[in-house]
Amino acid sequence: MVVSLNKKSYIANQSFAFDFDGVVADTMSLFTAIGREEFGLTDFYPEKITDYDLTRCLDVELDTLMQIVTRVVSTKYNHRLEPMPGAGEILQKLAQISGPLLFVTARPDAESVEDWLKDTLDMGKDSCEVIATGSFDAKAGVLQSRGKKVFVEDRLETCFYLKEAGIEPVLFVQPWNRRPHSFHEVRGWSDLADFFGV
Ligand SMILES: [Mg+2]
Repeated sequence: MVVSLNKKSYIANQSFAFDFDGVVADTMSLFTAIGREEFGLTDFYPEKITDYDLTRCLDVELDTLMQIVTRVVSTKYNHRLEPMPGAGEILQKLAQISGPLLFVTARPDAESVEDWLKDTLDMGKDSCEVIATGSFDAKAGVLQSRGKKVFVEDRLETCFYLKEAGIEPVLFVQPWNRRPHSFHEVRGWSDLADFFGV
């Protein structure tokens, strides 16, 4: 069963927020490109990542995976971190309607995300705010303190955790979250635009 949500009121009340990696940014494409091109991993593509715990779905040494994760988070790479298709346009539209948008990431620092939003989507500090929690489990507390009721997230484990904390997750479909759940899910940003009614 899929939860039915009163979408319009979320916009009016600014009661929604977004995860960053895997929702706004196509981080897994960057991750796998670094793996292929700099670590010589073959057949290393986002579709192969069927679990957020990479050690469960990839036959790659943990140390190598951690080195790639470190590269991605440090932003020291020769690739581009691309937005998910449609994300920029729809986020701009939402910001125009509802005011500044909130992004809550489990990354350890907000600066790299703020810079990316400014450089890639032309969203400066007047149109968005980024909070970096450093852990998945700290997201619920941040959202609660900001009065957010809905959170768009790609990590299924976090969705279950948010739900328990009274936040309604909207699962952004990705190859690594294809397991049974009862949350509202969206397949990309045009689907998300429909969800918000913009
Ligand atoms: Mg994510």
